[in-house]
Amino acid sequence: MNQVVNPGDHVIDATVGNGHDTVYLAKLVGTTGHVDGFDIQPAAIKATTSALDKAALSHQVTLWQMGHEHLADKIATDQPIKCAVFNLGYLPGGDKQIITKPTTTLTAVKAIQERLVTNGLIILLVYAGHPGGATEAQAVLDYATNLDQHQFQVLQYQFINQVHVPPYLLAIQKR
Ligand code: SAM
Repeated sequence: MNQVVNPGDHVIDATVGNGHDTVYLAKLVGTTGHVDGFDIQPAAIKATTSALDKAALSHQVTLWQMGHEHLADKIATDQPIKCAVFNLGYLPGGDKQIITKPTTTLTAVKAIQERLVTNGLIILLVYAGHPGGATEAQAVLDYATNLDQHQFQVLQYQFINQVHVPPYLLAIQKR
């Protein structure tokens, strides 16, 4: 991410959760850039607001308490996106029943693709180990696998020597 995101860029945290990625992105874009962050849970928005306040980064972030599937209503097509991060699954330390879902995740990915600048990047950290996770992981993998290679480069990074069901990372870069 730090090789793609520069000061002044507009980026998306599609699943802010406890705010770790939001803080990281806010530091990368600096005071001249902006992060739009989404999460459906009040607890996630509260935790992220507090993490941003603590790091004095609130002024370069807008938090939306809504599903990332509504991103197209909030981010105009003339607001180019340099990078978007999805950390799928459930909120660590929160309600494990509230998880990201295949349809809404892919709706958001497609909306971001339409706004992605050349060389812009979508990163998805995909977890398949929790109930519902395998279905989402398969849907995301199927979608990414079938993207036109002339338009997008898609890479998959994964642990191959870990027990249980380790997460893997998908990176979708616009050509
Ligand atoms: N990146 C976060 C961090 O640094 O703590 C962790 C994110 S956590 C794995 C996944 C988050 O996705 C949860 O907070 C959950 O509420 C959120 N979520 C679930 N469905 C969502 C949706 N449709 N739109 C946005 N966020 C959603």
